[in-house]
Amino acid sequence: MNTEYNVEKYELDTKLEEIRNNYLRFTITEYGCKHCRCYDNNWTCPPFKENQLDIWSKYENVKLIMLKYNFSKEFLNKQKSYEEFIEYSFDLIHSQKKIIEHDLYNLEKELNGEFLTSGPCVNCNVCQRSLGKSCVKPNERKYAMESLGANVIDIAKRYFDLDLEWIRGNSKPNFLIMMVCVLY
Ligand code: SF4
Repeated sequence: MNTEYNVEKYELDTKLEEIRNNYLRFTITEYGCKHCRCYDNNWTCPPFKENQLDIWSKYENVKLIMLKYNFSKEFLNKQKSYEEFIEYSFDLIHSQKKIIEHDLYNLEKELNGEFLTSGPCVNCNVCQRSLGKSCVKPNERKYAMESLGANVIDIAKRYFDLDLEWIRGNSKPNFLIMMVCVLY
């Protein structure tokens, strides 16, 4: 049994046009990406060599899926520095996305669509881009909603009525989220 957190799952279908018109904020998300270690180091992260943004116009609908990891009191009471908590969060999301992506592959087949994930591609232990090499699995790599401009903060508020919390100094959030979607 996991004593560090429990998981809640939320799902909602809506018109993709709503996201296109209201929740794509490329300048904001690119600014956030620039401060991440994966920027220019992973083939699914900006800056992109090709136009990846066409994907938002290819489909009519979107299934939004949000996983919320609620930390236990015991976990929150543990002393973790800002850096340790950032590492913990990175590892948590990376391990969890491998689990959800299994379901997303099934869902994209069922809906005849395409899924967007959360965070950088973790198909390889080290992305080839960081070594100056081409992607080894171009047909299997998936892009994150946020890397393609989706403002996940506002989407979480509008569709799931959730105000996100942040890791700031020694203050830990009560939860983290992972937002993914299937365009169809
Ligand atoms: S498949 Fe490997 S090389 Fe390609 S984007 Fe993913 S991690 Fe990078």
